[in-house]
Amino acid sequence: MNVVAGVDLGGTAINYTIVNAAEKFLIEGLCEHPALSVQGPEVCLTQIENGLKIAIEKAGVRFEDVVAVGLDTPGPASASGVLSARGSTNFVHADWAGFDIRKNLEARLDRPVTYLNDGNAGALWGHFTIFGANSTETSISAIIGTGLGGGVIVNGNVVKGRMGFGGELGHVLIPYQAIEGIEGLKPKCNCGRTGDLESLCSLTAIAQTLLPYFLARYPGHELSKVDSNRAPKMVRGMAENGDSLCRDIFRVQAHALGLFFDEMINTFDPDALIIGGGGLETGADFQRWFIAETRRGMPRQRAEQAGIPIHVMPNGDTAGARGAAIEALKLLDQVRIK
Ligand SMILES: [Zn+2]
Repeated sequence: MNVVAGVDLGGTAINYTIVNAAEKFLIEGLCEHPALSVQGPEVCLTQIENGLKIAIEKAGVRFEDVVAVGLDTPGPASASGVLSARGSTNFVHADWAGFDIRKNLEARLDRPVTYLNDGNAGALWGHFTIFGANSTETSISAIIGTGLGGGVIVNGNVVKGRMGFGGELGHVLIPYQAIEGIEGLKPKCNCGRTGDLESLCSLTAIAQTLLPYFLARYPGHELSKVDSNRAPKMVRGMAENGDSLCRDIFRVQAHALGLFFDEMINTFDPDALIIGGGGLETGADFQRWFIAETRRGMPRQRAEQAGIPIHVMPNGDTAGARGAAIEALKLLDQVRIK
C-alpha cells in the first residue's frame, strides 16, 4: 500500500497524519508528539522521526508504505523550506538560522519531502475539503487565529511566491475607513502597517485595538472588569451568546474580511472563499451570521460574482498536518511512475 505522511511542526507539538492514494485519512483526530524545536535541529528532527514511527503504527501501515512526506512549519522560510537566517519566534536555537529543514528531513527519512509554511498548509486543507486533492480550482483561505494566516490556491496549486511569502494575507492593506462603527480608529499591526487585515481580524486585533475601542463606548461593560489577558479570549463566546459589544467586535472583523475578500474576488475571480481558524470555532448559527456579515461588508459585486461561495474550514487542529500531507500526495503519482 502506498501512503503519504503529513508532519505539522508547531511551536509546542508535532502533529501527524497519514493519507492513502484514495485520499482517505488513516488517523482520525490529533496524533501529537512533543516538539523540541528549542533544542535545535538535531534533537528536533530525531523527535519528528520518532513521532512519525508512532503515527505510522497508529495508522496500521508500515514505514515501507510511506512513499513521500509533507512537512509544514511556521515561517518565515523560503518556498523550498530553508528557515530564515534571521531566526523566528518558533526557531530560536542558533542552529536553525538558514537551516534547510526540508532537505535535512528528506535525507534522514530517505523519502521525498515537500514543504509548506503553516498558513499555506491550512489553506490547502481547506481547499481539499471542498475540491479534493486533484483539483484545478482557485480558492482564498483566511485563517483567523492569534494573527491572520491563510493562503492562495490557484488552479489547485499553492502560491508560495518568489521568497516563500506568498499568501501572507494578514498584511494586505484594506480600506478599513469604509467600515461603519469604527470612526477614528487607527488599527495598527505588529508588522508596522496600519489597517491591514490582521490589524482588525485576529485575536491580537481584539486585544490591542477592538476591545479597548469598544469598552470605551460601553461604560460599565462586564469585560472592563476582567483581566486584560483573559478578556480578549472571552469575546468570541460572548458574541455567540448575543452580547452587543462582542457582536460589534465580530461585525467589524466580518466587514474587514468582506473588504479583503472583495479585493481577492477582483484579483483572482476564485471558485471559493474559505474562513478557518479558532476565530470561528463556534456553533453553526454564529458561523452563518458571520458569513452573512462578511457578505454585507463587501462592496456591491457584479451579478456574476455575487454568488461566490463562502465556506468555513473544518478540523482546525489537524489542518496543518492534513494540508502538508495533501501537498505530498501530489508526489505520489510521480513516485509511482519511477
Ligand atoms: Zn500586518
